[in-house]
Amino acid sequence: MKSGLYIVATPIGNLHDISPRAVEVLKAVQVIACEDTRIAKKLLSLLGISLNKTFLTLHDHNEEEHAIRLIELIKENDISAALISDAGSPLISDPGYKLIRRCRRENIYVTVLPGCCALICALQLSGLPTNRFLFAGFLPNRDKARKEAFEQVKNINATVVFYETASRIIKSLEAAAEIFGCREMAVAREITKMYEECLNGTAGELLAAFAEKQPKGEMVLMIAPAGEEDSPSLDIDVLLREELNQHNLKTAVKNLVERYHLNKNELYTRALKIKDHEQ
Ligand code: SAM
Repeated sequence: MKSGLYIVATPIGNLHDISPRAVEVLKAVQVIACEDTRIAKKLLSLLGISLNKTFLTLHDHNEEEHAIRLIELIKENDISAALISDAGSPLISDPGYKLIRRCRRENIYVTVLPGCCALICALQLSGLPTNRFLFAGFLPNRDKARKEAFEQVKNINATVVFYETASRIIKSLEAAAEIFGCREMAVAREITKMYEECLNGTAGELLAAFAEKQPKGEMVLMIAPAGEEDSPSLDIDVLLREELNQHNLKTAVKNLVERYHLNKNELYTRALKIKDHEQ
């Protein structure tokens, strides 16, 4: 096996999703660079691969230092190493790019063994446009920063993809409802696992779905491109007309804000237009 660094994708849920070539490489390398040695060792054991190797952790805080160590190991001993993540494709919202940059600068052979990547699987499941997409990593944790992140991508003509966690998805969808209104979005969760599902709808509809069934597992949030039609399942003008037939403007808007978490100002503007048109 050629000396160098092998970037190896690992499964995101289903062990059988690892490629035969990836297994061969993980068997053959002398060093494994990983995020968590316990998770890496568990994977190797499940694949029936010997643990008689050097394991080196790679995190944001130690990446430069451990990259230097790994490169020394490769150079001095003419050996090969694999870079893996806890799950999925290394380097995608996972550590590694500083190591790769250093290896390339030092003329170390670097190659990639492709495989599972949560963002690609999620896009494939979503039914949203895939010809142009923007992967925006994890959403910030704080309310203000999260809203700013949404505002930044609001007018982009591409499907926008975020990694998300079950504990934060409700807050994210509440903020998304305010900013994206009736834009179609999708949440893909537990991909390749037993409870895999992909839910599509407006942020309000997704919130309603998660009110009935608590969000669980790993998830990816995707937002349809700006300029796409509103969610096919929710025609906001029809809803507004129904409400305006029964209530005054203020109550009609209030009811829809409460029911679908839509943006109040946007609803007012639409409601006024409907009223003007009808007069
Ligand atoms: N590098 C990995 C990849 O791209 O496949 C992703 C690592 S990132 C630290 C972990 C995030 O990926 C999770 O919070 C979730 O958003 C997403 N993810 C990973 N596995 C998933 C799965 N089976 N289903 C849905 N999302 C998943």
